[in-house]
This record gives sequence, C-alpha cells and structure tokens, in this order.
Amino acid sequence: MDCLFCKIINGEIPSAKVYDDEFVYAFKDIAPIAPVHYLVIPKQHICCANEIDETNSAVVAKVFEAVSKIAKAENIESYRLINNCGDDAGQTVKHLHFHMIAGVKMGWGPESLGKTE
Ligand code: AMP
Ligand code: ZN
Repeated sequence: MDCLFCKIINGEIPSAKVYDDEFVYAFKDIAPIAPVHYLVIPKQHICCANEIDETNSAVVAKVFEAVSKIAKAENIESYRLINNCGDDAGQTVKHLHFHMIAGVKMGWGPESLGKTE
C-alpha cells in the first residue's frame, strides 16, 4: 500500500522515533508547529477517524495508552492531541494519526481553527 506512514512504520522512510511497541509508533513531526510535536499512530493502517469501528477500536485504545506513557516518560504535563479527519479538516496523510503538541501556551476558540477561507 502506498502510504507514507506505513512506510515510516516499516522503516522504508526514516523518522525520529519517540515511542514504539507492538501496536503503536510515535515519531517527531517533520514540520513542528510547537517545541513538542509528535505524531502518534497505530501500526495497523486505518485511513482516518471515520474508519474506526468495533473491529479496530482496540488499537486506537492502544494509541491513547501510548500517549499517556510518552507524556509521563518525557515529563510533559500539558499537551493537546489533535486528529484531522478529512480534507477540510486538513488531513494530508490518510493514515490515522494524532498530533501531540506541547511546550507552548495554546489558545482556544474560533481563531484556533486557523481557517483558510
Ligand atoms: P495531517 O495534516 O493532520 O494529515 O498531518 C500530517 C503531518 O505529517 C504533518 O504535520 C506533516 O508535517 C507530517 N509529516 C509529513 N511527512 C512526514 C515525515 N516524513 N516525517 C514526519 N512527519 C511528516
Ligand atoms: Zn498506512
């Protein structure tokens, strides 16, 4: 399958590893928008949040377990988890991923959507 993140998982494309286990891989975003910007992904290819169902949600739970482990291991007390699902939301890589963002004071509100039109 021609998927960038599947290639990162199997080592075809290099990445800066942050966390790795049987179900989950996490690595540094190549274009960080904050001092801490990791991508946490299931090793199973799931295209997007909309494709999560009863057959694969267990690996998504593993992703959230990994996030919590990463935060504790790196003493990250406060962070934001972002999932973009679909084109209008800005999903550019069609392999489910959660942006883990920290190290900066973040705002919340309409302006945080960063609307492009
Ligand atoms: P999204 O726009 O939510 O689909 O997020 C995709 C993210 O993948 C973006 O933040 C990109 O900077 C990041 N990205 C793309 N290619 C790579 C790569 N080779 N290694 C690490 N991060 C990448
Ligand atoms: Zn994939």
